[in-house]
Amino acid sequence: MRRLFRIVCFFVHRQKENTMSEQLIRQWQQVHTQVASLSEQAARPVTLIAVSKTFPPEDIRTLHTAGQRDFGENYIQEWQDKQTALADTDIIWHIIGHIQSNKSRVVAENAHWVHTVDREKIARRLSEQRPPHLPPLNVCIEVNIGAEAQKHGIAPEAVLSLAQTVAALPHLRLRGLMCVARADSTEAELTQQFTTMQQLLCQLQAAGLDTDVLSMGMSADMDTAIACGATHVRVGSAIFGHRAPKE
Ligand SMILES: *Cc1c(COP(=O)(O)O)cnc(C)c1O
Repeated sequence: MRRLFRIVCFFVHRQKENTMSEQLIRQWQQVHTQVASLSEQAARPVTLIAVSKTFPPEDIRTLHTAGQRDFGENYIQEWQDKQTALADTDIIWHIIGHIQSNKSRVVAENAHWVHTVDREKIARRLSEQRPPHLPPLNVCIEVNIGAEAQKHGIAPEAVLSLAQTVAALPHLRLRGLMCVARADSTEAELTQQFTTMQQLLCQLQAAGLDTDVLSMGMSADMDTAIACGATHVRVGSAIFGHRAPKE
């Protein structure tokens, strides 16, 4: 009897897991389809970055098997564990959270992209610590587009100067700009912030910097961001569901 009970439990549990991963794949497919259609309307390729912070490596593997290749992570320690668990995959890792100096090495050695460079010191460290046998680390400069005191990112006026510094570092490849719009924005305010980002990118291009990336748009505002020029959207909750707050 005990044995039978355990077998039944096993199958009930497995059924539940199957249903959950089916739901995850369904949500991802919806977002993926929506991004593809917005991208077509905008006549511009848009890369969907699945933001997997707080979710386990099994969920990432499920989506990777379904065809998702780009994943975004915020917390370096948490990402390290997942990256180790998924070392057998060809996942492209995007670091989209703030990087403290003492965490720069692991990022330089293992990430493909960093979207959140906002000071010269961290840029220099990443370049120095990037192993020479790897291709240059793709870098975006984070812009504090809503001028919010509690947010990271640099002021729009300071972008060009930092971009020139980053572009000159040997083991980094400056790709463009990243932002998180103000959470309380109206539609018009979102458009204004994303359009300013596009103008800032044009300013870099006009200064001769070879840049092509605007990383902007999340679950709630990716449609506006894509309409305003986004080439990379970072989508978490619309794919993975509600996140437990980070302690
Ligand atoms: C968490 C996070 C996202 C994803 O946000 P959702 O609203 O869940 O889509 C995107 N970008 C950054 C920088 C984040 O920290």
